[in-house]
Formats: sequence, structure tokens, C-alpha cells
Amino acid sequence: MKRLLLLAFLGLLYSPVSFGQTSRDVQSVLDSVFADRGEVYFQFNISDSRQIQSLTRLISIDNVRGDIVHAYASKKEFEKFLTFGYPYKLLPAPGTLIPEAELKPDSAFTRNPQTIWNFYPTYQQYLDYMTGFAATYPAICKLDTVGTSIQGRLILALKISDNVNQKEPEPQFLYTSSIHGDETTGYVLMLHLIEYLLTGYGTDPRITAMVDNTEIYINPLANPDGTYHGGNNSVYGAVRYNANNIDLNRNFPDPKVGDHPDGNPWQKETIAWMAFADSNHFSMSMNFHGGAEVFNYPWDTWAKLTADDAWWRFVAREYADTVHSYSPSNYLRDLDNGITNGYAWYEVNGGRQDYMNYWHYCREATLEISNIKLLPTSQLLNHWNYNYRSFLNYIDQVQYGFSGIVTDTVTGQPVAAKVYVFGHDFDNSQVYSSLPSGFYTRAIEEGNYTIGFSAPGYYSKSVKNIDVAKWTTTTVNVQLRPLTFGTSEVIVNTATIYPNPCQGKFMVVLPDNFSGPVKISLINGQGIGVYQGSGSSLHGKLAEPIEPAGLAPGIFLVKITTGENVYTGKLINQP
Ligand SMILES: [Zn+2]
Repeated sequence: MKRLLLLAFLGLLYSPVSFGQTSRDVQSVLDSVFADRGEVYFQFNISDSRQIQSLTRLISIDNVRGDIVHAYASKKEFEKFLTFGYPYKLLPAPGTLIPEAELKPDSAFTRNPQTIWNFYPTYQQYLDYMTGFAATYPAICKLDTVGTSIQGRLILALKISDNVNQKEPEPQFLYTSSIHGDETTGYVLMLHLIEYLLTGYGTDPRITAMVDNTEIYINPLANPDGTYHGGNNSVYGAVRYNANNIDLNRNFPDPKVGDHPDGNPWQKETIAWMAFADSNHFSMSMNFHGGAEVFNYPWDTWAKLTADDAWWRFVAREYADTVHSYSPSNYLRDLDNGITNGYAWYEVNGGRQDYMNYWHYCREATLEISNIKLLPTSQLLNHWNYNYRSFLNYIDQVQYGFSGIVTDTVTGQPVAAKVYVFGHDFDNSQVYSSLPSGFYTRAIEEGNYTIGFSAPGYYSKSVKNIDVAKWTTTTVNVQLRPLTFGTSEVIVNTATIYPNPCQGKFMVVLPDNFSGPVKISLINGQGIGVYQGSGSSLHGKLAEPIEPAGLAPGIFLVKITTGENVYTGKLINQP
């Protein structure tokens, strides 16, 4: 009875009325939806894309196609939405569109010799697969627990690499799916990918090299409470949100808005993800979603482009173009023929993608892998065939650009250093070498670069004229010399000064993206201060040229002081 009433009302257009004024029938439908699922799926029209900005933190926008917006809301969120007065249409929940019987594996559930990935496993089968993979391939596969969901389900990741129990000087790569519990295509495709990598190792040379040279992590199911909302026996009834009716992909710290962009405390799953990201050092990752078909690259939260926008467009195009060679002509064609800058599509605050990019120096993209969120089982193998080559290409990209090991000149020990590209990096696009190996890797568009290295207690160093080509790796190993004077709290970094020699007026660029006030002083060859001034730096570049009145010809030490650091450089004045 409840379900009949629900279906009768779905698809009807409702006038903008507040909860109090809603007709009793509509109210009872909403009450029933919220009681069953904790969230409602609906659509409405906008007249101006700027309207998204005022709505994106109140409800969970799922897709914007022209002036039509699809969104989810919890009861609390929906009440806020109603106050805006948009006419809306309730939509059937994507997790309930396919009959439950059609989602299950057929009776021949087996892992031997190889699974045919054309079904949605039960929660227990999922656990069996994950533990089974690690048990069957212990040399190259290890089970890692990211954390536990609110309802006590496991958030699991498999690490796939040679010497799987060590942290080697190799890039760490992450695939993760279904943080929106009802977007399940990526869930099955990631299980398929795990098996493909494990069975290909030792037989397929490309897979063998990939596993040998990369530490691959795959988390097929980031929001198990959402996916198994209808019970552990089926993904039927899957919902977007977690068990607290909160969208986990709006719950992360946001570079623009701050720590709690959705106004909610960090969820148990979010905290587990942040700890997992902290304890690893991912260089590239991808988060699988559904409901659209597009490769979405950062940023989602603001209109600014990343420092590596050209690289992102290249990698996104490679992904989509490869898919297009193996798929029907209408697949993965949303927005710019299957790729988009996130913000250009619609603004999202608190997403995992921007969090990983901004705070973990990781290149994370969002892949919307199927228009249908809970894909019919008959489509799962097709989608694997469209995408698996691109999955592999995207993993390979983590090897390209430049990479190397940073060590101490005296002890030879590895150093955790900041690695930045002069004239290129801003908004946290730098990377870091990590212990225990001192290894770093920096994906970057082809070009010629000057690379800086700095670490507390060491002299900074720059390496000029590094050529990077597409699909190749340039190795740049660097030794840093420890500071030998004074307390090691003072870090002296080399500033770039130009033109040099100058004619009384010069510019300064700092070897990082420091923004804020600076003090400037000039010291002549006799050690006497000849100039003191102040200025400001934006992303490491001083806002104004420095022009000390009546500066004599000669050689000077330029000293730039911020609250934290001292930067120096040698200046020749030849007026
Ligand atoms: Zn999603």
C-alpha cells in the first residue's frame, strides 16, 4: 500500500510549498520516503547557473543538465530547499529501479577459475572475495582496512604490488568507488579489476610491470552502509547517503569553504578516509560515481584552474578517447565529449576529490561511469569492456613526469622534502618525498622545468633544465646539504631574482607558494644594511618590483623574511 501510494506520486510536479502547507497526500509520501530511505531524489529547474551556488551546500546536487538539476536531500535538507520556492518533481530512487532478483548472482557463485563479473555480490560475498584475493595471492596482494562504517560494516582496500608487505620507492595509486552508495557500477568493476591484475601478474608483461613498479590500492566500496541499506543480501534499495543520512562526498574539508562545508560533523567514514590518506602517500587516485558519463577533474569548489590544468585535460582526454574506441558512440559523451572541469559543470563543496588534491598533493579525479546508477547486471561486462583499458592507462600515468629520491648529502639517509616547480606550482600543486625511501613522483605536462627541493634543516636546492615528455619518466635524484650554522629552526631558502644584473629595480620569486606580508632587506659587500622595506607575496611572487632609492652599483645580498622563513639571493646592480 505504501509503495503504491509512493509510485502514484513520483513524477508529479509539486508547487513550492513548505512542509506545513504541503498537501496531506504529498506530506505522507515524503514521510514514507524519509522513513524508508532517509533521503529523497528529485529534480527541479533553474533559470541561472548561479543559483547552484546558493543550493550546493544545502542539498546534495547530483547532476546538472542544462537547466535541469537532479538532487538528493535528507528531510532536514529538503525543508531548507522548500523555502526557496522551486517547483520540484520527486523521482524514484535509483537503487530500487531493478527488481531485486535480477541483481543477484546466479546459483553458480564461484571464484574458480575466474569470476564472471555480471552480478552484484551480497555483503558477505564481497568480504569473501576481498579476503580470498589476499589469501590466494599473498605475494602481491594484501588486505587493508580503511575503517568501519557507522553500522559496523568494513571499509576495505586491497594493496596490489610486488613486495606487498613493504613500502617501496614506488608511486602509490588509489582507485575507490561508490562513496555514493547507490552508484554501484564502479563497485563491481573494481572487483573485476582486482582479479584482472592478480591473474595477469606473471603472464601479462604490462600488468606484471605495473604491479612491480606501482603500489596499487583498490577500495571497491567506500560507503557499504549506503550500498547495503536494503540489507546485506542485496544492493537493492541502495541509497546515496551514509547511515546518518549524510552525503559523505560533501563531508570533507574544503579548500574554499573550510573544515565543515556541509555544516555536519565529520562522519565516521570520513574520519577513516582522512586517516587512511594521512598514513599513505597517494600520488594519483580516482573516485568512481554514477548518474552521468564524464571524467571530472579538479577543482570542484572554485572557478580557479589547477596549476596542472593542461596535464589534467591530457589525461582526461586519454581516458575518454580510449573508451570511445571500444564503446558505443553514445557512451561517455557528457559535457566536453566525456571530460569536464568540475566547477565548470557544477560547484561541489566538501568533495573527496578536492580534499585529496589540496591536502594530500594527490591528483584525484572523479569518474562518472554510467548514466544509470544501479546498472542492470547485463550491462556490467559491457562497461568493463568500455573502460578497462582506460583503467590501466590511468594507473600508468602515475609513473610519468619526473620522480626520484631525496637524500641527505652527509648521512645518505632519505629526506622528506618539498618538491616544487618554479613558475608553475600554486594552490598546493607541489609534491613531497616521503619516508622511509625519500621517494617522490610528480606527474606533469610535457615541458622543460626548474625544480626546487626544500626541507627543514637543509639548504634548498634547485635543479634546472629538466625535460619531461609524455608517457616517459625523467629521474631526478637529489641530495640536500644539512644546515651547519645556528639553530636549525631558521631555514634559508634561495630566492630567484630577476633581472640580474639589474638597473636599480628587480623582482623576487620565492621557491614556494608563500602568500602574505614579507620584509625585504639589502646588505652590501661590507655587510652593511643599505635598504629595508616591506611588501607582500602572492603564491611566492612579490606583488611589486623592489626599487631602493639611489642603490649604488655593486653586489648585494637580498634577504626576504616571512613569519616562518628566510629567503636569500645575490643581486648585482649595474645602473
Ligand atoms: Zn556520486
